[in-house]
Amino acid sequence: MADSGIRVRFCPSPTGNPHVGMVRTALFNWAYARHTGGTFVFRIEDTDSARDSEDSYDALLEALSWLSLTWDEGPVVGGPHTPYRQSERMREGIYADVARRLEDSGHAYRCYCTPEELEERRAQAREEHRPPGYDGHCRDLTAEERAGLAAEGRPSVLRLRMPDRDWEWDDLVRGPITFAADQVPDFVLLRANGEPLYTLVNPVDDALMGITHVLRGEDLLSSTPRQLALYEALGAIGVTDGSVPRFGHLPYVMGEGNKKLSKRDPESSLQWYRDEGYLPEALLNYLSLLGWSMGEDREFFSKEQLADAFTLDRVSPNPARFDLKKCTAINGDWIRTLAPDDLAERIVPFLVRAGLVVEPLDDPTRRLLAQAVPLVQERMETLGQAVGMVGFLLADDDRFTLDPADAEAMLDADGRSVVAAALEALSGIPEWTTASIEEALRAALVDGLGLKPKVAFGPVRVAVTGRRVSPPLFESMELLGRERSLHRLAAAR
Ligand code: GLU
Ligand code: ZN
Repeated sequence: MADSGIRVRFCPSPTGNPHVGMVRTALFNWAYARHTGGTFVFRIEDTDSARDSEDSYDALLEALSWLSLTWDEGPVVGGPHTPYRQSERMREGIYADVARRLEDSGHAYRCYCTPEELEERRAQAREEHRPPGYDGHCRDLTAEERAGLAAEGRPSVLRLRMPDRDWEWDDLVRGPITFAADQVPDFVLLRANGEPLYTLVNPVDDALMGITHVLRGEDLLSSTPRQLALYEALGAIGVTDGSVPRFGHLPYVMGEGNKKLSKRDPESSLQWYRDEGYLPEALLNYLSLLGWSMGEDREFFSKEQLADAFTLDRVSPNPARFDLKKCTAINGDWIRTLAPDDLAERIVPFLVRAGLVVEPLDDPTRRLLAQAVPLVQERMETLGQAVGMVGFLLADDDRFTLDPADAEAMLDADGRSVVAAALEALSGIPEWTTASIEEALRAALVDGLGLKPKVAFGPVRVAVTGRRVSPPLFESMELLGRERSLHRLAAAR
């Protein structure tokens, strides 16, 4: 596709672990870029040395790679606006230079107010029912006054001089939005120690990187008027040609109990999904439904199909609810679409972690797994569940254990006598196949002892697989083999 000129960005701060809200933002930007034939820029906003970490930076790159959300410009791949890490851009003096130009041109000014002075005036403003934001105290200091304050040794921050008017934009998701002038006071661009703040570096980089569409979470809505004002100033001093990106604010994601999904909720962390065995395909599929819809009730699709269909008019401004059950059901649907050998490959790391197999798998284990996968594929909702479902096939006899609750429920005296009858019925059968195992057990337990199938096969299932819920019983016994099956029946009896 020819380059459409559309440029979007995903620009997380590397603090903590990647979470699903962040992934949703990345995904929508990626999909919009792919849909429009635009460019997906990945930028790291790591100017807060107190909170940012290298581990978190690595985890972000790893997360996007795991999800195969490929970026066109950014860390590792580079691009025309390198570097894409703000800490490096800061070292190059990019922000200090822009700040100086803003100050020299009068778009920004030094503020010498101390935190105590600010707090005192804020309290007074509240008392008098005036807006509590910065009151412009230092806006019109003369050069002599500034020199005097500096000579006193007062530190100063740099503030943007906000034009005195309301702020409006046509939000790509929420439609026309207005902020009154007094809601947006002169804000800080540089700390007293010279460190640039998010309020400066984020719009400056969006401007320098030619970002045309800013798609980000609704929590950032209130910073948009400040960014519009800064864009205007950047145009006036010639950092940009005066163009301003379009903004679209993606709806909140709500968790349990209709509270905003918090970074602290365990199921908000991307790593949790990886550990449980969610497929990246499924997670992307589910996250794309958080605030966007394909229409016609289509809820199962690949990220390529998402990219084909992704338009912003289908993004809803209403909060989206994160529904783990639905996410898990979609994961199950995705698992069922996998070719069995692909599924087997993806299960292996979970079996390794559970200590059931070691890599590289030997041929008998590989064959066993290949035969077992079709038996469980229909029933699995996460890859992690494979451990419980096929573990009984892979565990050595000395490591095989019965689920205590299932054993207690099914292997009481009656259950054990059923197991004894099963053992006897199977001991002499000429061939060990699913059909002959089923035939012998039905003859002995259902026809012979007059038991209902559930009563007959429940204890046998627990004895052989260790659990009440397992893959189909007769197939499982065939795979487990005659010797190991009989051994387990004898042990349970
Ligand atoms: N670094 C900011 C954050 O992670 C980016 C916000 C934005 O998209 O403008 O919240
Ligand atoms: Zn001041």
